[in-house]
Parts: sequence; structure tokens; C-alpha cells
Amino acid sequence: MENPTVFGKIIRRELPADIVYEDEEFIAFKDIRPRSKVHILVCPKEYIPTLADYPDTPEGALKLGKLMLTANRIARQLGLEGYFIRIHVGEKGGQEVFHVHVHLRSDA
Ligand code: 5GP
Repeated sequence: MENPTVFGKIIRRELPADIVYEDEEFIAFKDIRPRSKVHILVCPKEYIPTLADYPDTPEGALKLGKLMLTANRIARQLGLEGYFIRIHVGEKGGQEVFHVHVHLRSDA
């Protein structure tokens, strides 16, 4: 299924974004409304609406692990000494864009 979200559009280059990292599986770009000095969104390119949609299987664990490791890699590349990660899950968890993403934020 094609990813209908704004992040799908960014992945397909139908919408502009300030991309700070990209590889075959992941993309990361600056949040359009930053709430920290550094506020990056890290997404898998595969369309997965929420964290809760990762299957509880070795494959799901691998995908989720890679997402976190990618966030860590970007933090290292940006030279962040400290940062925090936030993931909103579901509308009631504050999620606005239904393509899974990690908020990588730092005020350090
Ligand atoms: P959520 O609440 O879903 O975890 O966070 C979605 C985030 O995406 C918000 O922080 C919002 O500012 C950001 N955002 C929404 N639309 C766009 C967009 O078109 N481009 C970028 N770069 N960020 C967006």
C-alpha cells in the first residue's frame, strides 16, 4: 500500500524537507515545528503506521532495533553529546502523522 502521509510524500520527494540523513531503509529530516534546538524525525522508508504495528517477532525486533540504531547514528554524526528520543503511539498517544517516526531532540 502506498504511504499516504506527509512523511510518505517526503520519502517520495513529493514534498520538500530538510533531510539530514538517508540510507536504503531510513530517512531523517528536521521537524517543521522544532521544539528543541535540534529536532529531527527519523523514519523507516517502509510504510508502518505506528510503533504498535511492529510485529512481535524477530523480524519486528530487527526493524525496530535498526530504527533506534539509526537515530543513535544520526546523533553521533551531528555530534550531540546528549539527546532524548520520543515516540508518540496512536492518536491518544499524541501521534499526528501515521507513519512511524522517532523524535530525536536535544537542547544540549
Ligand atoms: P507526532 O505527533 O506524529 O509524533 O509528530 C509529528 C511531527 O511531524 C510534528 O512534530 C510536526 O511538527 C512534524 N511535521 C508535520 N508535518 C510535517 C512536514 O510536512 N514536514 C516536516 N518536516 N515535519 C512535519
